[in-house]
Amino acid sequence: MPSRRTQTLSASNPASIDIAADLLRSGGLVAFPTETVYGLGADAANPDAVAHLYDAKGRPAFNPLIAHLAYASDALQIGAFNAAAQKLAAAFWPGPLTLVVPYQGGARVCELARAGLGTVGIRIPDHPVAHALLAAFGGPVVGPSANRSGHVSPTEAAHVSEDLAGRIDAVLDSGPTRVGVESTIIDATGPELRLLRPGGITRAQVEALIGAPLADAVPNDVARPASPGRLLSHYAPRARVRLEATHIAPGEALLTFAGARPPGTEQAATILDLSPEGRLTEAAARLYGALRALDETGVPSIAVAPLPRTGLGEAIADRLGRAAAPRPG
Ligand code: AMP
Ligand code: MG
Repeated sequence: MPSRRTQTLSASNPASIDIAADLLRSGGLVAFPTETVYGLGADAANPDAVAHLYDAKGRPAFNPLIAHLAYASDALQIGAFNAAAQKLAAAFWPGPLTLVVPYQGGARVCELARAGLGTVGIRIPDHPVAHALLAAFGGPVVGPSANRSGHVSPTEAAHVSEDLAGRIDAVLDSGPTRVGVESTIIDATGPELRLLRPGGITRAQVEALIGAPLADAVPNDVARPASPGRLLSHYAPRARVRLEATHIAPGEALLTFAGARPPGTEQAATILDLSPEGRLTEAAARLYGALRALDETGVPSIAVAPLPRTGLGEAIADRLGRAAAPRPG
């Protein structure tokens, strides 16, 4: 692809939002912060811009993108919300929840962005800079994580540059993201809600609202698209990732939680505790930065101590499982 000059725009400069919105209007690619991770924005209505986005990420085009909007009320113009979807939107938007609903937006989200599906994933981010950009732009913006496909998601502007400098037009920098893992995705196209991807809103939060257990995605359902967030190998650092490590081998990095030190820890090349005090919110926020930092030390293998699977632990375990999965090729 033609190389682009990637400018870093400080979000604290008020002019940056207008510059970024203009870039989107002219078909450019702009990475922007959200409360989950940094997203790579493109005008959802512009198939050329969306094609460039797939190319910049190296993302397979059969994977649909999430449409981001400034206001929950805008979502009604592109999607059909049943009662359950409306209830979730009212409770969790703006926030780290993506709702997949039947599409009814005409040309507002192009077919390429939806991977040809009759449905659309929609999210209203809870971040002042994302909100300002989306409001200034005025239409749906697709925003997959701003990293090369399959790689660790970016939680800081510098991570975006590491992966995408020269491939995108700008990065809006506003420091580290708060939640640190991607949005929870719920399929609300049928009579029963289904969890497609665990994320920043926990299963327990959703179940408390709907008053029933949340169904899981149907495995290998032909009606569901294969999608990067659900590919087995994803979110992967360069080093091998070894889960549920109860013993540390010499020279491995230890990624741990709540002060746990499995036998063999004294042989670890380096130790990183995601949250010494055992807070899962802190662990989620630090997860991707930790994987990148451990990778930079050049260790061949990252041993991950067992982590709780409750609350945000479900999303953390999901991402670590994919980081550890056998790599394609
Ligand atoms: P991300 O890589 O974080 O942008 O995640 C995008 C994910 O949203 C995809 O991998 C899908 O899992 C999901 N998604 C988006 N649109 C749809 C849709 N129409 N139907 C099902 N899943 C979707
Ligand atoms: Mg991603």
